[in-house]
Amino acid sequence: MNKAHIITIGNELLIGDTANTNASWIGRKLTDSGFEVEKVFTIPDDYTIIKNQIEQSIEQAQFTVVTGGLGPTHDDITKTVVADIFDSELARNEEVLAHIEEIFNKRGFTLSDSNLQQAEVPVKCEVLFNKRGTAPGMWFEKSRNYLAVLPGVPHEMKYLMREVVPLKLQKVFPESEMWATEYFKTVGIPESTLSDRIGNLEEYVNNGVGVAFLPNPAGVTIRISASGSNQTEAVEKLREIKTVLNRKIGDYLYGKGKNLELADVLGKLLAEKNLTIAAAESCTGGRLTDKLTDIPGSSRYLKGGIIAYANDIKTGMLNVEENLLAREGAVSKQVALQMAKGVAECCRADIGVSTTGIAGPDGGTDNKPVGTVWMGFWINGKHFALKSIFTSNRLVNKERTVMVVLETLRRQLLGIKSYPYELKPHYP
Ligand code: ATP
Ligand code: MG
Repeated sequence: MNKAHIITIGNELLIGDTANTNASWIGRKLTDSGFEVEKVFTIPDDYTIIKNQIEQSIEQAQFTVVTGGLGPTHDDITKTVVADIFDSELARNEEVLAHIEEIFNKRGFTLSDSNLQQAEVPVKCEVLFNKRGTAPGMWFEKSRNYLAVLPGVPHEMKYLMREVVPLKLQKVFPESEMWATEYFKTVGIPESTLSDRIGNLEEYVNNGVGVAFLPNPAGVTIRISASGSNQTEAVEKLREIKTVLNRKIGDYLYGKGKNLELADVLGKLLAEKNLTIAAAESCTGGRLTDKLTDIPGSSRYLKGGIIAYANDIKTGMLNVEENLLAREGAVSKQVALQMAKGVAECCRADIGVSTTGIAGPDGGTDNKPVGTVWMGFWINGKHFALKSIFTSNRLVNKERTVMVVLETLRRQLLGIKSYPYELKPHYP
């Protein structure tokens, strides 16, 4: 496998002002293109450090990508450094100049000296034309190792990595492996159980398939990548393993795609079944309704919600009985049930859901430790509550609660018998 290095340049990356999203994005992209990303470097706008690192990387890796420091300001020195490394003069490139002039004319600005400098490139490079900005990318070769120098602005870098760099790579590494990747999204099942259910994938792994479990508070994502000598072969291999996963963990999968949202999946089900929903939120403080409204078109099924944080809102707006609240406490099965039914009635929705819990970090008791959450459901008359004890982290608890409510509804609407995290329903 060809090795790749990524070098991201900029003081702002080192001091934490800017998150280094270029490095992770390029890492993913190069991996999918069949490179073994061996090292990622983050270095300051410093002549010697940049020079040493680029020189080392082009010795060690077949392909090195550099981002940042290509702009017109005095702290942008990457171009000078690579010109020196390749012992190359800077010269004006007329095509780049015409492109910069066009951009400036469109905006009605006049070119300054520093803008003119952007049209200068080392004579020994091939220009990677940057349709999204003024700083051109550059391509160099040294003893059959290759270097792409790209702007730091993420959308400009992505444009070049998607549209321009692949054509170059295909020419210089025609034989390299291709990878196809798919993300499987699950919620309501711990990573270990998931891994047990999937079982041994050795046969596939030995045959160029990579499996990674990526847990976060919203659930576990499984990333599967398959390699092949060309894209079709990789995609075919991926299809085989997808069939296996669907068979083994189909119930737990809410969908595929890195950025797929559970709220989107549930929203489609609600729309399909012509059902409306309303939420009464105590411990989640509106997060559940917020998630639902992230999805375009949610007005088709979301009626509304009530953030019932204080007890008098629970009694006054949701018809929770006062003596029940006093007897059982706000974090209880009965209150969750009444909140869910109350909000469905108040909003005239088919489905009412509720959340009430001790989000933490304080406020727990022996009986109700921090992380205890009751979730109520009223689904066209089907009335039940779930209890879970999550973590001691407030934000994780809020996120988990929302995901469990959404996933429970998804399973209910699809007629799946099990509950997230094997919770058991409590009936009135
Ligand atoms: P420009 O022509 O706009 O000056 P440049 O190549 O000089 O481009 P920088 O000046 O280094 O790039 O960065 C431009 C912008 O891109 C800044 O807002 C910076 O924070 C952002 N940026 C730079 N590097 C990265 C990175 N590795 N990840 C995410 N953002 C980055
Ligand atoms: Mg800059």
